Amino acid sequence: MRYLLFVILFLPFAGLAQRQVAITMDDAPVMALPEYYTAGQRKAVSEKLLQQINALRTPVSVFIVGDNCIAPDNQLLLKKWVDNPLITLGSHTLHHPNCADLSIDSFKMEVMINDYIIRAVAKDKPVPYFRFPYNAMGKDSMAQAERTGYLKEKGYTAVPFTIESNDYLFERYYQDALRAKDNRKAKAIGEAYIRYTLFSFDYFEKLAREIFGRDIPQVYLCHVNQLNADHYTALVKALQQRGYRCVSLQQAMQDNVYNTPLYDHSPYGFSWLFRWIPDAAIRKTHLRNSPESDKELAAFK
Ligand SMILES: [Zn+2]
Repeated sequence: MRYLLFVILFLPFAGLAQRQVAITMDDAPVMALPEYYTAGQRKAVSEKLLQQINALRTPVSVFIVGDNCIAPDNQLLLKKWVDNPLITLGSHTLHHPNCADLSIDSFKMEVMINDYIIRAVAKDKPVPYFRFPYNAMGKDSMAQAERTGYLKEKGYTAVPFTIESNDYLFERYYQDALRAKDNRKAKAIGEAYIRYTLFSFDYFEKLAREIFGRDIPQVYLCHVNQLNADHYTALVKALQQRGYRCVSLQQAMQDNVYNTPLYDHSPYGFSWLFRWIPDAAIRKTHLRNSPESDKELAAFK
């Protein structure tokens, strides 16, 4: 009887305990929107995030934009990320352009100069990853192969993501509410962000099961910004409640699904789960029905 009770109580969670997520943050050391952030705010955002990453002991991969590092204060911020053993480094180009619009030579320049800036601070710490801004890898399969081939030569792995939740859109509304000193609204936006993130996880978990017949280690894409600095702990706790363990990007990408060929080479920023669907008609249907944050955000206009 006691055994039966154990099975009834814990079996539904047995599968969930295996879930893995790698958290990845773009636009490090901090999103440099001058209209939103003073130097003091950039420092505060960066430190607040690192404190929580340390307290929760969650590995995070960050993708660095050289342009965000050039001011002396920002180099110090980057150093804080570099020195943290929980942080893995990645490049995210010098100016954050849409690489599908760049010639191959301009693209190489974006990578090379960014490499120089990051390594000036990172010294011996490896920089194994690269993420394309807007996840636009090139205008077609040939351009994409040329760019990823060049990255490989330079020692970078171009990385995918499977889940995102438009945190940069929530961030804009959040910043406006903070600047208007409307704390109630800011709190509601933060809650909506977590709610929509969980909704997105639910959608992409189902999609992964449909494509691969099982749960996969997910790669969550968000940004180094005020919204995540203020909600990182809530986000991680909510994911842990869903049965997730935070793992490094390297560990997540050891799963064989990350060797799946891409069947879609359009230059748009959607999840790799869509790109891994072989049938174009099925892929289109899924894309049409994918989560939209408009409804959540409409309340805050
Ligand atoms: Zn970015």
